[in-house]
Amino acid sequence: MDTIDFDQAVGRVPKQLFIDGTWRDAQGTRVLPVEDPATGRTLCEVADAAPADGMAALDAADAAQAAWARRAPRDRGAVLRRAYDLMTEREDELALLVTLEMGKPLAEARGEVRYAAGFLLWFSEEAVRVSGRYATAPDGNGRLLVSQRPVGPCVLITPWNFPLAMGTRKIGPALAAGCAVVVKPASQTPLSMLALARLLEEAGVPPGVVNVVVTSTSGAVMEPVLRDGRARKLSFTGSTEVGRMLAQQAAHQLLRLSLELGGNAPFVVFADADVDAAVEGALIAKMRNGGEACTAANRFYVANGVRDEFVTKFAGRIAALRVGPGYEDGVDVGPLIDAKQRDKVAALVDDAVARGAQRLTAGAPRDGYFYAPTVLTAVPAGAALLHEEIFGPVAPIVGFDEEDEAVAAANNTEYGLVAYVYTADLQRGLRVMEDLDVGMVGLNQGLVSNPAAPFGGIKASGYGREGGQDGIAEYLDLKYAAVAL
Ligand code: NAP
Repeated sequence: MDTIDFDQAVGRVPKQLFIDGTWRDAQGTRVLPVEDPATGRTLCEVADAAPADGMAALDAADAAQAAWARRAPRDRGAVLRRAYDLMTEREDELALLVTLEMGKPLAEARGEVRYAAGFLLWFSEEAVRVSGRYATAPDGNGRLLVSQRPVGPCVLITPWNFPLAMGTRKIGPALAAGCAVVVKPASQTPLSMLALARLLEEAGVPPGVVNVVVTSTSGAVMEPVLRDGRARKLSFTGSTEVGRMLAQQAAHQLLRLSLELGGNAPFVVFADADVDAAVEGALIAKMRNGGEACTAANRFYVANGVRDEFVTKFAGRIAALRVGPGYEDGVDVGPLIDAKQRDKVAALVDDAVARGAQRLTAGAPRDGYFYAPTVLTAVPAGAALLHEEIFGPVAPIVGFDEEDEAVAAANNTEYGLVAYVYTADLQRGLRVMEDLDVGMVGLNQGLVSNPAAPFGGIKASGYGREGGQDGIAEYLDLKYAAVAL
């Protein structure tokens, strides 16, 4: 990109809260700063909601719920379809916003915009496919009539790592199903969500159906909303720690819950695998989003027969990656989100090295929140980064001999989001896929995300699915009527 007018890109985004179809300041006109993680520079300030704003958003969603639920499914789908068209037209400007506030390279940010738009398109089509059934009771007496209806107003809480796509992955199915929503984006990346709200407004979403509340005091603002009882569902994407806490808050009113939480993905390469393809897949699974993805490969288990070849090729590719601000030409890896995340990644690598791991790549240190992409071999089992989510560009590699050993190591985690398996043996691939305790498997593929597929995990990675035919079911309740004939 030749010249980027940052101020113009940021200037176009609304900086207020979006409640009941109006853009308004926060109570007390509080504001919070939004930072460019590549420089630490403040990009702008946006309204910082107080608890009263959260409740106003809930009031608006509650008031809009019944009319939105009554709208013809085809109308709801048409609104989402217009939003998809607008997002596609605005790919460049939205991608720049994502890069500016989150840090990922522009090419990846464009990929996120397309992925985000894909959920609007998919759910514009799903809106008209909500069905029911009518069956004869087993004893022949009467009929069983089953229909589906929207759960009601929903609270949607999203993280900073995919600030746009995590929004559409929830808003798309909620709106398609007939639910009004209160959305709370991460405080570090509110601009993408505010731009999305403006776009949805332009696409014809009625006042109150989508409300966006940005706040630096998430707990104080959201807890009363969850405890109120009018919202009937919480969909949360974020850390397992916060997910556990929100599940407790949601229990008070027995809200429906979807929790997309942390991951610790194993990447398993068998001796019969195409090593070059495994290296390509590993680069995507590890380095996409700078490793700041719940689906990021966190641990590499490589068969000892091909380990040296894999390590040499993979480390060579990693060492060649260019680190820098995401909006500079040719940059492959941007900064981490903040100093805390950079220090956490550094501490995990230091711990592994202190325990005997060998560090193969180490770029020149940079200022700011950057961390050089790093490959570690001979990583001992006790190293903390084999057990914790790294959320950074660090690849620990461990050798193995037997299939059972690899599967046991892969499953040795509290998480269960995704696993990657490389093998040329179809039977082995299917067998291992079945044995892995995860919600998703990449089989000879380093990327699983797809709007048409059910995304989600098991164990400490949460429950519920986003995307695919299952995604809309999260926002629908079943109603059964016993019919006498
Ligand atoms: P986080 O700290 O859990 O925050 C996620 C969201 O929850 C943010 O909007 C945050 O707001 C909000 N939040 C924090 N405390 C809250 C509270 N007490 N009440 C209400 N909301 C609260 O996670 P993160 O650091 O942003 O995101 C990284 C995590 O997300 C990783 O663990 C990653 O694996 C996970 N993730 C999972 C998926 C998936 O689909 N499984 C996808 C992407 C990311 P503030 O910004 O104000 O703190």
